[in-house]
Amino acid sequence: MTSLAGSFSFSLWALDRGLDRDDFRKFFIMESLDPTLWRGMLSQLRRDHASLCRQWFDQLKPLGFDGGVLTIQAATALHKQYLERECRKAFAEVAQTLTGALVTVRFVGPDAGYADPGQANGVDEIAITPDYSFETFVSGPNNRLAHAASVAVANNPGQAYNPLFIHGGVGLGKTHLLQAICQRILDQQPDTRLLYLSCDAFVNQFLECVQSGQMNQFRHRFRHVNLILIDDIHFLTGKEQTQEEFFHTFNVLYQAGQQIVLSSDSPPSEIPQLEERLVSRFQWGLVANVSRPTYETRMAILRTKAAMRDVTISDDLASFLASRIDSNVRELEGAITTLQGHAAAQERPIDLALGKEVFGDRDDTAAETQITLQDVIKAVTGFYNVRLSDLQSKRRHKSIAEPRQVCMWLARRYTRFSLQEIGGYFGGRDHTTVMHAIRAVEERRESEPDFAHALGRFEHALGGS
Ligand code: ADP
Ligand code: MG
Repeated sequence: MTSLAGSFSFSLWALDRGLDRDDFRKFFIMESLDPTLWRGMLSQLRRDHASLCRQWFDQLKPLGFDGGVLTIQAATALHKQYLERECRKAFAEVAQTLTGALVTVRFVGPDAGYADPGQANGVDEIAITPDYSFETFVSGPNNRLAHAASVAVANNPGQAYNPLFIHGGVGLGKTHLLQAICQRILDQQPDTRLLYLSCDAFVNQFLECVQSGQMNQFRHRFRHVNLILIDDIHFLTGKEQTQEEFFHTFNVLYQAGQQIVLSSDSPPSEIPQLEERLVSRFQWGLVANVSRPTYETRMAILRTKAAMRDVTISDDLASFLASRIDSNVRELEGAITTLQGHAAAQERPIDLALGKEVFGDRDDTAAETQITLQDVIKAVTGFYNVRLSDLQSKRRHKSIAEPRQVCMWLARRYTRFSLQEIGGYFGGRDHTTVMHAIRAVEERRESEPDFAHALGRFEHALGGS
């Protein structure tokens, strides 16, 4: 399939110019590559290896083709790292199908003779991906504080918040924020001694150094940095000896005014088996939470992720995906990759029709009847004779609280809004209030036949079951 596609584009390209394959090769031997050929290579990459491709591939420069080695220059050291890590095979494969020659691909950084800032610092512990920058991070009500604090720390390490502690569930952007801080700092102050690693890596290195009696090296490594970022610090749970060591590392860095950034799946006080003195230190600076994104934020994330991959998605597709996938951002991103794959395989555009085929036009009440929040409000306010502004007010009188709870229950059942969104709509309440309302309505429905009957009428009016 790939080689067919390859020779197909070769033929088109060559036919255009009346060239045969030998002529074609000569273009590669020239000092700099023919721009048309280079563009052909890029477009074939975008077609056959869509999920690898990034928008910034447009900035790559083919430097030359010499002795079977195709040299490609990246605009930043991180781009180069990404290419080396992820793309070597794909580039070589495409170059080979286009030329019919055996090609090795070499990536160089912006300044070919210059050492990688990444290597000089400590960021190679976990590869930093250029995908995780502030430019591609969407801030919303679910992460506003964590995002703002990360930006502040990146602009003023050691001075804004120390430590910065970011916590939240899986796939909600913690690693993204930590890496964005690294990137911003490496951009602005390339000589910063920066160490970014997972908690696991910290634990393992500690244990290795203990065993091999190299604690001096360990301490030197971790105590002489300007900035340390440790991802998933909750893995310190129950590891007493490592906690002890980390406590000292923390103190040395903190006293020297060096920045510490930590991420975790839960707030400091809820990490099991974590020494009290660490819990309290983790709270010295700023503790910020990331939670599930709202519908609007999910839409914005989809657009950002698509743009990053040079994919355009229409509003109706974005809206379909954002309402279908509402738990974890990684899945949103996965949806784009999946659609790219299907679109390439079937040679068709990425649109709503494809989205529905791939993700199933689930036989879902909300999707079928498109019940809106307005429908819910209209039915409920008419019956109870209250106004929307009452429902959105802070008033808790039963005559208002009951219709408000019923609205929340119906909205959760028949629209795609999250608990958080529903709470926000009905007077800026948080998701626990909505959960409570839903539970209260469920309980009354079980025990009060009249109430159950009224609910049934609303459901009927809304066209639900
Ligand atoms: P965590 O470390 O919290 O488990 P990650 O940082 O690995 O989550 O995020 C998972 C995926 O979701 C990543 O691809 C990340 O880029 C993306 N993501 C999460 N939140 C956002 C956001 N607010 N804006 C853009 N992308 C996001
Ligand atoms: Mg993570």
